[in-house]
Amino acid sequence: MALKLAIVGRPNVGKSTLFNRLVGKRLALVDDRPGVTRDRRYAEGSIGDMDLTLIDTAGYEDVSDDSLESRMREQTELALEDGDLILFMMDAREGVTSLDRIFAERLRKQHKPVILLANKAESRESGGGVGEAHALGFGEPVAISAEHGEGMADLYAAIRDAS
Ligand code: GDP
Ligand code: MG
Repeated sequence: MALKLAIVGRPNVGKSTLFNRLVGKRLALVDDRPGVTRDRRYAEGSIGDMDLTLIDTAGYEDVSDDSLESRMREQTELALEDGDLILFMMDAREGVTSLDRIFAERLRKQHKPVILLANKAESRESGGGVGEAHALGFGEPVAISAEHGEGMADLYAAIRDAS
């Protein structure tokens, strides 16, 4: 059975971009508009020699009476139930936001292993936003660029160590 990885985090950090990269097909919709992924998506993928089942989550849906926060909560809860390992993604360029803290608080209350990812870290300057990431409670983030495929060896090692 492939390890199930749930990718969670606030809208627009790059979750679907990582999902697509690990799946190797454009199954998840990537868009500049936050929250464009309309539901959870499951796909088989891999990193190095490791087979994975990937779960992409949406920040929220476009048309809804529900609040952004409750949408995020619902998506995240379902992914947390299903995943063996949680990839919690933040944006290295923007640093820790209040929404990141809301996610972190929830993730600290569950017992599945969590890997903190600082995405969009392709340029040297972009790492500046990760200074306070340690305070989220998941150690030092693994710096990656989902778009450019950087940091994948570090991600592989982190998944191997956590699983
Ligand atoms: P999601 O809402 O978390 O699923 O985020 P998406 O995967 O839809 O990405 C949101 C935006 O961030 C898109 O414009 C992506 O092209 C961009 N993005 C994703 N990964 C990276 C990255 O590694 N570097 C940069 N610079 N942009 C990225
Ligand atoms: Mg998405």
